[in-house]
Amino acid sequence: MTARIIDGRAYAADLRRQLAAEVRNLAEQGTRPGLATVMVGDSYPAQAYERRVRRLAEELGCHYVCEALPADVPEADAVAAVGKLDADPRVSGILVLRPLPSQVSEVALYRALDPLKDIEAVHPVNAGLLALGRPRYVPSTPASVYHMLDRYLSESGQDPQDVYSRSNVVLVGRSNNVGKPAILLGLARNATVLSCDVHSFKAGLLYEHTAQADILIVAAGSPALITGEHVKEGVIAIDVGINPLPDPRTGKVRLVGDLDFDSVAKKAQAISPVPGGVGPITDVWLLKNTVSAAKLAAGVAAAQPSLDGIPRPAYDHTRI
Ligand code: NDP
Repeated sequence: MTARIIDGRAYAADLRRQLAAEVRNLAEQGTRPGLATVMVGDSYPAQAYERRVRRLAEELGCHYVCEALPADVPEADAVAAVGKLDADPRVSGILVLRPLPSQVSEVALYRALDPLKDIEAVHPVNAGLLALGRPRYVPSTPASVYHMLDRYLSESGQDPQDVYSRSNVVLVGRSNNVGKPAILLGLARNATVLSCDVHSFKAGLLYEHTAQADILIVAAGSPALITGEHVKEGVIAIDVGINPLPDPRTGKVRLVGDLDFDSVAKKAQAISPVPGGVGPITDVWLLKNTVSAAKLAAGVAAAQPSLDGIPRPAYDHTRI
């Protein structure tokens, strides 16, 4: 089988065009969305992500600000930086970049977020709404994974609802920002969902599980964790992993995913590459959520996000 390579850059370009039109319409109504990032320290993935979303926000004409804090910042100062952004009327949405140094707890920063500006749904209230199927925001990476799957299935002449309801969706990775919400999005599409983690790997069961996947979503942060040996013929394989590796030939950093692309592609019906897969869609989705936050703050009517991507009747998210 020769896999179709799912072109995340093309999907992202389409979403970006739609978003640019939305931002222009909002500007005519006097609303300018604003994105803020909080970056502690200088990790490569955080810096790379910050640069990409900054560029995108500026190109779209959104306000953008980054609170860049030193790696040894006390937790209270990092919480205060979030509070400053909460109070800034130019900021509609806030992204806390990971990783964080050990003295700054994720939970402390997430709790400090104004839930209306928490575009990644990491505040306990938004994470709860997501788990209850009433999301105020759908976090950008899992939303992008399912956008990719929904669109690939439709374009290849398959009925997404039928495929999901017959599929084993296997997730490798269960982090709060990627794996867990991706479980909820799979359940909302009526798939049979299986979640794997380090413990499945250590128990020697990981590859037994991945071999059962009709749809495999890997978000572990471990280069080439899954090879062609570990998947079944005809799988749809989505690679979320972004692993920076130094290239011994050029000395530059090169990005690889969690799938061993060549061997998995030989058996898959479709596969997303790294780079050029989930990442570019995630960048645009973050801005899409920022625009939703700006609409919410301005009281502009907006389609309600849903776990399965199907529009739902309006739900008043300005109040809990
Ligand atoms: P985390 O480190 O927070 O979580 C990793 C998850 O993978 C954990 O649940 C962990 O299990 C599991 N895991 C790690 N190693 C193995 C293994 N050998 N076998 C099975 N499970 C394993 O990472 P994130 O979820 O934040 O990110 C995952 C990857 O996705 C990273 O490479 C990150 O850079 C990338 N990423 C990409 C994005 C994009 O837009 N493309 C956006 C966000 C992240 P346990 O829970 O037991 O520890």
